[in-house]
Amino acid sequence: MLVDSHAHLDDARYAEDREAMIQRAYDAGIRQILTIGNGTGPDDMGCGIPVAEAYDWICTSVGVHPHDAAKVEERHFDLMERLAAHPKVVAIGETGLDYHYDNSPRETQRDVFRRQVELASRLDLPVIVHTREADSDTEAILRQVAPSRGVLHCFTSGAPLAKAALELGFMISFSGIVTFPKAQDLVAIARSMPSDRLLIETDCPYLAPVPHRGKRNEPAFVSETARFLAGVRGVSLEQLSEETSQNFARLFSPEQKTA
Ligand SMILES: [Zn+2]
Ligand SMILES: [Zn+2]
Repeated sequence: MLVDSHAHLDDARYAEDREAMIQRAYDAGIRQILTIGNGTGPDDMGCGIPVAEAYDWICTSVGVHPHDAAKVEERHFDLMERLAAHPKVVAIGETGLDYHYDNSPRETQRDVFRRQVELASRLDLPVIVHTREADSDTEAILRQVAPSRGVLHCFTSGAPLAKAALELGFMISFSGIVTFPKAQDLVAIARSMPSDRLLIETDCPYLAPVPHRGKRNEPAFVSETARFLAGVRGVSLEQLSEETSQNFARLFSPEQKTA
């Protein structure tokens, strides 16, 4: 049993074969997928709900990606809170800071990120954090708001942010990036992670792991990242799968959230 803790199943690149792609994930042993509710922007944050309603092993989140922070109006926070009450919505996010693309002004990104972390705390939901080239500001906001639980997804940051996340009780999720040849620093962090804080994800349709690199990614490929991380950590694939599945259940407890 494997889990893909971060996928974008609503993406237009699956328009032609979404059902078959989800079936391939099931056939590959995936038994939980968290599909992220960002969509094409703040008005579309409920995009994961239809697919989560259609499959009992798929759950979703609601949030605004840092790329879209500048599009946020006050009403979107009300929408987020309302949608978060849906029984298949298990987290707030992804939200965070992306200083690599800077698609929204940094101050706006920080404000919209902070508001979502605060909402997650108030609703007692985990927060899914996207952070790129923004380690110190991400750490500062997380330490200020101190949410009770969350994950740094698609981790590509440095060791100090990994350490801070663990201190804050967060989990860290690795994507196919860890399988890329230049990822030695990430591999070192993945090797030293406590086994009860580790998650795996595809972040599909982006970032396909080796040997699928460059192609459209999909949840079935999370097995490649799992196999790679098991090797790095010197455990069996079964053990790595078991640990990450248990961590997912503990963080998102989708089966415990009832309407
Ligand atoms: Zn992200
Ligand atoms: Zn994502």
